[in-house]
Amino acid sequence: MSSPYRSYVLVSREQIARNYRSVRAVVGTGVEVAGVVKADAYGHGALEVARVLAGEGARWLAVSSVEEGVALRRGGIEGIRILVMGGFLPYEGEAVAEYDLTPAVHSLDQIAQVERLARASQRSVGYHLKIDSGMGRLGTRASAEEILAALGQAPDARLEGLMTHFASAADYTRQQTEEQLAYFERICARLAQGGVEPRYRHTSSTIAVGYGRREGWYQLVRAGHALYGYVSPARGDAPPQLLDVKPALTWKAKLLAVKEVPEGTLIGYGGTFRAPRAMRIGVLGAGYADGIFHRLSNRGKVIADGQITPILGTISMDLTTIDLSHTTALGEGDDVTLLGAEGEASLYAPEIARVAGTISYNILCSISARVKRVYV
Ligand SMILES: *Cc1c(COP(=O)(O)O)cnc(C)c1O
Repeated sequence: MSSPYRSYVLVSREQIARNYRSVRAVVGTGVEVAGVVKADAYGHGALEVARVLAGEGARWLAVSSVEEGVALRRGGIEGIRILVMGGFLPYEGEAVAEYDLTPAVHSLDQIAQVERLARASQRSVGYHLKIDSGMGRLGTRASAEEILAALGQAPDARLEGLMTHFASAADYTRQQTEEQLAYFERICARLAQGGVEPRYRHTSSTIAVGYGRREGWYQLVRAGHALYGYVSPARGDAPPQLLDVKPALTWKAKLLAVKEVPEGTLIGYGGTFRAPRAMRIGVLGAGYADGIFHRLSNRGKVIADGQITPILGTISMDLTTIDLSHTTALGEGDDVTLLGAEGEASLYAPEIARVAGTISYNILCSISARVKRVYV
């Protein structure tokens, strides 16, 4: 199927729904699944993905920022909780209350801010408290006693969850995840002794679900990558991966020109590619401004007429040149696949990431706003 855009992604709603169901099936009925739709649902379109998940009966979504949460509410996402994992800044407090967002609070001072917010807005404002159990990023490092004291000062703010995030859940060559979980358990147990036992505890993203780290699932998991069809490979002696998910996004670009060039032709900025023989080349209407990594210059591949073929020369802002010597079937206006499957060939985010020197998440999130999203 082709679309009238120079560069576009096709997103399969059904595949996202299937991936969500796979996460549900793995964690079982006692555990809720928050669909992580931050960063425009990893390039898939947050509003559309949120609608699909709501249609599947999801009760939680998770985003990074208040702004992302507000955009979902304004887009009509109602009747489903939205966890703002990056918390809120003082000037965003009003929007948290107005749009019924649930912030992940990561300092004791912010508990006091939620308290003020709840009083000022005369609404019940629920929040989740994020514990830094050893990732050294967001989360409080306060002791259980300090947390209990802060909670005592905030009777109107409603603590609904305790959460943490793992730094290396896919790494089975070390104990960091076990250590983080033990720290989290210890804090939770002391809070429980102090009478604080919120409804949710949660620690796990895709990797901790995929590799079955069940001790960390509690009542809720936060899955992003899996919804889009990916589970990162593990290091060391990992148990079998449980999720049955497949990529939901295909990225295409149209040929603006196809031409024959003689041996010795230099291609692109800097003349970094010299044709070793007479070649047929194609010029695609997509470049690094669309999200094709500049690092893929002279290294990356695309799929043209069902075959993997190399990117030639330097990637430009709006154009990328490829080798079409293997086919005469393609001409101006035809589609080439940048990410996805075509015929027998496939090229997905992890392989592209390896060549670009990054991770699969980075490839998906970099597909720019200029690339049209088409839902099928
Ligand atoms: C992004 C994020 C997730 C989702 O991670 P995936 O690996 O995409 O499943 C979960 N929790 C937090 C705190 C995150 O920032």
